[in-house]
Amino acid sequence: MVKPAFPGLMQDVPLTIPTLLEHAAVNHAGTEVVARMLDGSVYRYTYGDMACRVRQAAHAWQRLGIRQGEVVGTLAWNHHWHMECFYSLPGIGAICHTVNPRLFSEQIVYIINHARDRFLLIDQDFVDTVAQLVDQLTSVEQFIILGSAGCVQVPPELGEVLFYDDLIASESTSIDWPELDERAASGLCYTSGTTGHPKGVLYSHRSTVLHSMAIAQPDNLSLSALDTVMPAAPLYHAQSWGLPYGACMVGSKFVLPGRHLDGQHLLELICDEGVTTGCGVPTVWSLVLEYAEQNDLNLGQLERLLIGGTALPTNIRDRLKVRGVAAVQIWGMTETSPMGTIGRVNRLSSAMLPDEKEQLLLKQGRLPYGVQMRVKLPDGSEAPRDGQSAGDLWVKGPWIASGYLHGDGGAMLDADGFFPTGDVGHIDALGFMKITDRSKDVIKSGGEWISSIDIEDIAANHPAVALAAVVAAYHPRWDERPLLFITLNAGASISESDMLAFLEGKIAKWWTPNAVLIIDEMPMTATGKIRKLTLRERYWRHLAADEQSH
Ligand code: ADP
Repeated sequence: MVKPAFPGLMQDVPLTIPTLLEHAAVNHAGTEVVARMLDGSVYRYTYGDMACRVRQAAHAWQRLGIRQGEVVGTLAWNHHWHMECFYSLPGIGAICHTVNPRLFSEQIVYIINHARDRFLLIDQDFVDTVAQLVDQLTSVEQFIILGSAGCVQVPPELGEVLFYDDLIASESTSIDWPELDERAASGLCYTSGTTGHPKGVLYSHRSTVLHSMAIAQPDNLSLSALDTVMPAAPLYHAQSWGLPYGACMVGSKFVLPGRHLDGQHLLELICDEGVTTGCGVPTVWSLVLEYAEQNDLNLGQLERLLIGGTALPTNIRDRLKVRGVAAVQIWGMTETSPMGTIGRVNRLSSAMLPDEKEQLLLKQGRLPYGVQMRVKLPDGSEAPRDGQSAGDLWVKGPWIASGYLHGDGGAMLDADGFFPTGDVGHIDALGFMKITDRSKDVIKSGGEWISSIDIEDIAANHPAVALAAVVAAYHPRWDERPLLFITLNAGASISESDMLAFLEGKIAKWWTPNAVLIIDEMPMTATGKIRKLTLRERYWRHLAADEQSH
């Protein structure tokens, strides 16, 4: 750190997570936090109540001997218990490690052991899963169940468990938070590890507070005290995109949908609680839209959905638009906290024709203050901002990872401090970035790149198609050629030639997939994205005998 020659005379107040909580407790004490419980009922309390329970939990953690810098795991859905952990653990200087319960067992075991979690906080739903893994969890000494005694039958393998509600009940509701360094670690989240082992991304108090300030801005996620925000992205997926912290900062009403992520339950919460803003991957919102369309329901007071994780499908954007809801695209990754870019018009693009504007907003968006981006061409030079020179995306900023936990992956940053995203894309003259692919999904045909994302979006617009994925298959003449996989909507049918005819004229001829395969089920990742790797591995040799085609 450089020492200033002539320091400013402003107070050096550390940017720490307890400041967010205490701000909400004082200034938004009466604002509601609502959670869908495991049994489907709705629990509601306020930021004031939440702060009391967080302080009680903090005392309990200290009583149990949880130390500063210690990692504590959670395996839980989006509800008030989990939200409280987001504050109580970092508040005492510990690290809240959100483990994704949808991962394969081997990955859950690997992640918990790798992070060296000594305490594991688990939802009633996951006690059986954890019981089966106990023998392999080498670091965990104590399991704590989120609920009170009797809420669940405890498998004997878990030993003497503690119950969160009972543990905190008699603790004091006030606390003197310990003094913390804003650069101390606060949260840990593993990337899904589609290649190799998952890697740990370690957030700090400072990165969290700065990211919260950034997402709240009107040109970004636009959070205000008058909003009701519902994260459908799980708290274990890049910390629900930072919303648990951003909402507290501005005092938005907060709605946690629990494990009930189906269209009906989500829409009920949207309407009953007056949700104005939601966030999540496109598949979640397509469930909500389907339910609303089938039952002729409106979307209540919903104003905007923040959609990311994969490209925003035009068909979801259009269906939302007829219901008066804006789809705002966000691009990012666990390593970027996750806000990297955001799809909102700026002054230059605001003068565009409506059609052009809509096209522009299908790009992943422009950079907020705090994120710098470079597109690097294969020779290492920086690509011009011409909207077509595609290359590897590198990013830099105070809420962007500098490396992975325990040094996994080695030194990540380039000489200028930029982090490699693993995505490929370009930036246009207006500053809008477009992802053409993840580098591992790129299709290289005869030395030229084909964007799987573009073909997928068009294919998914066919009324018969539910999900579409384009992956590379080995081709003896062109190295790689695209294969299009689709799943169909209930009762729908389509032939390969119909699908190819549908694509004709909408994509360059040489991008036309060599085969269209209709499959019953799309393989999905634990974060709700299509697992292209599975398709690629399974169908890599599908065109191996195809010497003459295209
Ligand atoms: P994983 O998908 O491996 O679980 P992340 O959730 O961190 O891990 O995903 C980050 C990746 O998701 C990005 O690198 C990018 O490839 C993809 N992604 C995220 N948002 C978008 C978007 N709006 N458009 C296209 N791809 C996106």
